[in-house]
Amino acid sequence: MPGPGAYWFGKEEMEQVMEVMQGGYLFRYGSENDPKFLHKVSTLEKEFAQYCGANYALATSSGTSALLVSLLAMDLHPGDEVIVPAYTFVASYSACIFAGLVPVLTEIDESLSMDPDDIEKRITPRTKAIMPVHMLGNPCNMDRIMEIAQKYNLKVLEDSCQAAGATYKGKKTGTIGDMGAFSLNIFKTINSGDGGVVVTNNQKLYETAFGVHDQGHKPNRFGVEVGARSVLGLNFRMNEITGAVSIAQLKKLDHIIETLREKRAKFKHLIAEAGGFKFRVLNDPDGGDIATLCTVIFDTREKAQKVSKALGSKTVDQSGWHVYGNMEHILRHLKEVGQPHTKGSYPKTDELLSRAMNISIGVVDGGLGAGWGININSSDTEIEKAARQFISVSK
Ligand SMILES: *Cc1c(COP(=O)(O)O)cnc(C)c1O
Repeated sequence: MPGPGAYWFGKEEMEQVMEVMQGGYLFRYGSENDPKFLHKVSTLEKEFAQYCGANYALATSSGTSALLVSLLAMDLHPGDEVIVPAYTFVASYSACIFAGLVPVLTEIDESLSMDPDDIEKRITPRTKAIMPVHMLGNPCNMDRIMEIAQKYNLKVLEDSCQAAGATYKGKKTGTIGDMGAFSLNIFKTINSGDGGVVVTNNQKLYETAFGVHDQGHKPNRFGVEVGARSVLGLNFRMNEITGAVSIAQLKKLDHIIETLREKRAKFKHLIAEAGGFKFRVLNDPDGGDIATLCTVIFDTREKAQKVSKALGSKTVDQSGWHVYGNMEHILRHLKEVGQPHTKGSYPKTDELLSRAMNISIGVVDGGLGAGWGININSSDTEIEKAARQFISVSK
C-alpha cells in the first residue's frame, strides 16, 4: 500500500539501476577517472538541490537519518528543547531524542500541522529549535513560524518527509528554515525503497551535516584534513543504486503532483457538490500542497467514526505512530526527562484528529489512516464511484 512514486515505477528506474550494475560501482565514491563510475548519488544531490532551489542537498539513508543528521549539524546541545507538533510520524521525536534533545510538543490547528498560536506558550529558556512538519503534504504556516523563530533566535528544521515538491508562497518546503529533511521511503511522494535528503542554503550546515553522515569527512571526501577533523560522524550514506532510482523518481515528481492535484480536485468537487463537508485548512494561498491526501473534518467524532468505519478505514486519531498519544515508548521517554504526557495532554489535537478522516489520493497507507480512497492511477469512473460511496455512507 504505497505512495504515488511506487505506483509509477517503470523502465526509467530499471534503466538507472542497470547502468549502475553494469558500471560496477555501488558505493557513492569511486574512481573519478573511470567512466564506469557514474556519480549517481552526487548527481541526485545536485538535481534535488536544483529542484528545491536550495544551495546544497545531501543524500542520506532515510528520512529519519536526514532529520538526525540535520539536528546534529545545527549546533544544539544536550538537553536543548525542540518544538515539534503533537501530530507527526514518530521519527520526528526519536531523531530529537537520539540527538540528545528534548522534543516539546505543540498543538496542531485545522491544517493538521503545528498551531502557530500555541508555539510561544511552549518556549522556555532551553528552547533552541522548532521542527515544523509539513504533515500529509500540506505546508505549515511558515510565515508565522519563521517570525517566532526570529523573535526567539531559534533554529528551524523543516520535516518535509511527507512533502517533497510542496511549496509555501512560491518556495519549496525544506528551504524556508535553516534545514529541511525529506524521505524517499515507499509511503512518500517519491520512493527508492529507503532514502532521505537534507537541503540547506547554509554552507557550514551542509559541511557539518556531510561530516556527520560520513564519519566526519569533508564533502565528497575532498580535502581530508588529517589531524584537523572537527566533526564526529557516523554512516548514513546513500548508495549508488538508491541514488539511481531516486534520480528517476525525482524526474517524475512534478508530473506526480500535477496528476494528484487533478484527481483530488475531481474527488473534492464531487463531494463538495453533495454539500456539508469541511476540509482541512491549506496554509499556502497559492495551493502549494501536493494533494497526496484529502482530509475531511467532520462536525462530530461519532460521524467521523461512522463514516470511516463504513469504508473500512479509521479516524486520524487512530493512525498509530502518527499521534503522540499512541506512542507509548516516546511517552515513557518524555516522562523520564521530566515531560510527563499521556493521551489527552493535547486536547485540541486529540479532538481535531478524532473528527478527521484521511482519504487517499496518492498515498494509500493504512498506517496514516488513509487505507481508503483513490490512487494516482484511478480513472474518472473510479473517482466518481469512490465519491458516491463516500457521500452515501456520510448521509
Ligand atoms: C516518513 C517520515 C519520517 C521518516 O522517514 P523514513 O524515510 O521512514 O526514515 C520522518 N518524518 C515524517 C513526518 C515522516 O512522515
